[in-house]
Amino acid sequence: MTAADTLSAAPALDALTRIDTTRIFVGGAWRAPDGGRTLPVEDPSTGRVIGAIGQGTAADVDAAVAAAQGALAGDWGALTATDRGRILTLMAARVEARAEDLALIETLDVGKPLDQSRRDSAALARYLEFYGGAADKLMGTTIPYQPGYAVYTLREPHGVCGIIIPWNYPMQILGRAVAAALAAGNAVVLKPAEDASLSALVFAQIAAEAGLPAGALNVVTGLGAEVGAALSAHPGVHHLSFTGSVATGAAIQRSAAAHVVPLTLELGGKSPQIVFDDADLDRAVPVLVTSCLQNAGQTCSAASRVLVQRGVYDAVRARMAAIYDGLVAGPARDSRDLGPLVSARQRRLVQGFIDRGQAELAVAGQGRIHPDADPAGHFVRPTLFAEVPPDHDLAQQEIFGPVQVLMPFDDEAHALRLANGTDYGLVAGVWTRDGGRQLRMAAALDCGQVFVNNYGAGGGVELPFGGTGRSGHGREKGFEALYGFTRVKTVAIHHG
Ligand code: ADP
Repeated sequence: MTAADTLSAAPALDALTRIDTTRIFVGGAWRAPDGGRTLPVEDPSTGRVIGAIGQGTAADVDAAVAAAQGALAGDWGALTATDRGRILTLMAARVEARAEDLALIETLDVGKPLDQSRRDSAALARYLEFYGGAADKLMGTTIPYQPGYAVYTLREPHGVCGIIIPWNYPMQILGRAVAAALAAGNAVVLKPAEDASLSALVFAQIAAEAGLPAGALNVVTGLGAEVGAALSAHPGVHHLSFTGSVATGAAIQRSAAAHVVPLTLELGGKSPQIVFDDADLDRAVPVLVTSCLQNAGQTCSAASRVLVQRGVYDAVRARMAAIYDGLVAGPARDSRDLGPLVSARQRRLVQGFIDRGQAELAVAGQGRIHPDADPAGHFVRPTLFAEVPPDHDLAQQEIFGPVQVLMPFDDEAHALRLANGTDYGLVAGVWTRDGGRQLRMAAALDCGQVFVNNYGAGGGVELPFGGTGRSGHGREKGFEALYGFTRVKTVAIHHG
């Protein structure tokens, strides 16, 4: 069966989700949101409404926070770290068992090519596996202090964690945040994005089936300005974790400040790939393109800028242009090079950048939209612009679509000026065979992750991830995320 056959033969959405998606999950039970309103679920490949989710309110957030507090004071808070880890491991197995349903749901909800959604459900299982194994390996330290004292630190959970996630990688992002928060012993109120909430709801069902105690995970769907804002301003929340746009992240940071609540922000990026004259172009060029175009460029770490040393600039431009000219955007179920963008709004924003680039810049390569694609779907043509001035908006602003800019550079110092010359600092890629240069660049790049002769290292869940500048602060993934979901208590005992 092809991917397209799989999807057309797939059961209807309610059979895939096996839940009433208009309900929210609070205190281990499914219930209609306060007021009983719903929001439509749209398939980005066709623009058609295929279902509905609940439109939660501030009252639902109150109930969810109370349920989380109850879980901490009750069954969930009483579990050992080992037992928390065991439950996460059971959740991993259940996600694996439903990986194909989850992938199909994500493809319908986000417009993500099916092969990419399958990678996302596998990543969700892997986060649960990793943090399940890590739960009972999170330890404090003993500190050699003055004679007569015993001093040690405890790593305690914050308490109730509010987790607000975006629509671009719902399963991966909820996986990295929720699994780490639970492993560390917190209780969670999760607010998925209104454009893509289905996989989070199914995840809640999986958690309950795996034996996660009631209230340890609560999912309240709804609008950002309503549910998200209520969660980030809630006095009963002890830690916030947000992934999304800079403007919303800054608003959440302001509202967290009112209660002096700590938070992790993973915001946008304008990440560079830096290609030196001595790079292995056969290996680099395909990665230069896919590192931007996966998920149709709707990725915080998308490598949207390609900086190329002059000696190989024309060669890289020609090779990338040839790839772009062959790219096809099509319905997500067909797993073509890219699917649609998530919404009409996102399409308008991205098309605006493409139109502006076409008027002001050189188009080096451009893909096409498959004739089978529904005209009501949110497709754009992937586009590569060349010789883009470093201060041009397309070289500075996060586009969140399949648009890449090429810029030439002279030497290491020039490459660094360009690479570090935006407000962001999420990820950078460096392509060179020169070992000394690899180390110099890794040290001098102002960002949270540097990849040398690769980009993304296969997405490894073990690798801490986060940014500098407007890309945010705090780290997701790996053990760093576990530390972030704890607070340290120092105990000093004077025994004489
Ligand atoms: P986008 O504009 O691409 O949808 P956002 O950063 O606004 O990206 O959205 C990411 C997440 O933040 C979503 O879950 C959204 O509902 C939520 N959100 C939006 N506005 C707010 C807000 N004012 N307070 C809290 N959360 C919000």
